[in-house]
Amino acid sequence: MPISRRAFLRNGTSALAAYPAMLALGMLRSAPAHAFELEGSGDNKHVLILGAGLAGMAAAYELQKLGYRCTILEARQRAGGRVFSVRKGSTNKETDAPLQTAAFDDGQYFNAGPSRIPHHHELTMHYCKELGVPLQVYNNINEAAYYFAEGNGMLSNKKVRVREIHSDVRGYTAEMLAKAIDQGQLDAGLTKEDTQKIIEFLRAEGGLDIDKLYKASDRRGFIEHPGAGDKAGRIADPHRLSDIISSGLMDPDFYNVAEYAYELQMTMFQAVGGMDTIAKAFEGKVGTAIKFGCQVTAIHNQPEGVKVTYKDNGGEKQITADLCICTIPLPVLSNIDHNFSSDVSRAIDFVPYMQTCKIGLQFKRRFWEEDEQIYGGITHTNNELAQIFYPSYDYLGKKGILIGFYNFNERAKRWATWILCNVSSWRWTKAV
Ligand SMILES: Cc1cc2nc3c(=O)[nH]c(=O)nc-3n(C[C@H](O)[C@H](O)[C@H](O)COP(=O)(O)OP(=O)(O)OC[C@H]3O[C@@H](n4cnc5c(N)ncnc54)[C@H](O)[C@@H]3O)c2cc1C
Repeated sequence: MPISRRAFLRNGTSALAAYPAMLALGMLRSAPAHAFELEGSGDNKHVLILGAGLAGMAAAYELQKLGYRCTILEARQRAGGRVFSVRKGSTNKETDAPLQTAAFDDGQYFNAGPSRIPHHHELTMHYCKELGVPLQVYNNINEAAYYFAEGNGMLSNKKVRVREIHSDVRGYTAEMLAKAIDQGQLDAGLTKEDTQKIIEFLRAEGGLDIDKLYKASDRRGFIEHPGAGDKAGRIADPHRLSDIISSGLMDPDFYNVAEYAYELQMTMFQAVGGMDTIAKAFEGKVGTAIKFGCQVTAIHNQPEGVKVTYKDNGGEKQITADLCICTIPLPVLSNIDHNFSSDVSRAIDFVPYMQTCKIGLQFKRRFWEEDEQIYGGITHTNNELAQIFYPSYDYLGKKGILIGFYNFNERAKRWATWILCNVSSWRWTKAV
């Protein structure tokens, strides 16, 4: 039965998959990879932009080039939205929680929102170039970081280097495949020569010996490092595959996401000095158009233009404009009074956003570098922390900030609640 595009989108895709599916069907224009080349003249038309995150500020930046008059209403007292680097003196106020003020040392920071720019985010890269924001490589993958699985297996509750598990799992799976292919079970469509080539590849990929058996190699590190003279170094035996499996190290928490997922593949970048330098660069261009502390409460299309209601220190106000661009995140927009069509309204209510929580912990010593030789990258766990991120800047510096956890959904909700309940009693300045 032929299936319509609408039915496919309605039945066949989740909310998260709908966007790429619509792009693939040519129903949405993708964001341009390069600079916008907008044409026409704004003729001093007034555009109201809701939200001074990167989307709102980039819109104002481009429209001002064409001669539109832009006003940006921003609820917070700072621009950047989710692009937020926490450094000494940074403040944050959550509903029903006390004001938090970061007391990190000068020069120390962590990116509470986005921290990684994939090399294929060409538009972001373009703006960094156009606005003069220096970038540096973000080290997203580190074989020297750890896996830590809580549980009852032989490898549970201890730090295991990522490289050990990667090497062992690749080795065992390559061994199994090489043996199966050699016995002719999988090679129905392969010539003898092809079979041989695949076996050679699997031997290289898995680090197999001449008999196609996986034995530990230096890929998985040393228990005694090689040195001068006769010190060839000592390699530990591989972990047993059954131990890796029973310790949960082949569970989804430890899938090799960082190397395989398109948006996490190296090369990745970050803005030098904190991702908020990108927001600050935009603010430098459109800052005079931003009205801070203005919380939008209603958006109404009118026969001519649009009317927006907002609250600031002086109370409730209204503003009209010829056009409006709304960049308020959908779960927030969902609670704002508007007269959009029922289709648009349902779509706004329907899209879930992922919950996430990060904590930045300043340490007086970069022990992960000094003691463990971990420079950047991520340790993965199956516990409440989910991930620990090591800073990709100031290597070998004196102090540093670890992202002590970066978790999602239920774990994130639990930790956010806990932190907000305990925040007033935290001694933020205590050096750990
Ligand atoms: C923890 C985390 C990690 C992330 N990591 C990455 C990453 O590594 N790489 C990446 O590319 N992306 C990442 N993202 C996604 C990225 O941050 C967002 O896609 C991007 O910042 C969204 O920009 P925006 O302008 O659309 O929205 P926002 O930045 O959310 O801007 C919306 C603005 O609207 C304002 N606002 C909200 N309500 C109102 C109201 N009622 N009235 C007025 N103003 C209002 C907000 O204060 C905000 O300033 C991450 C996001 C998070 C939260």
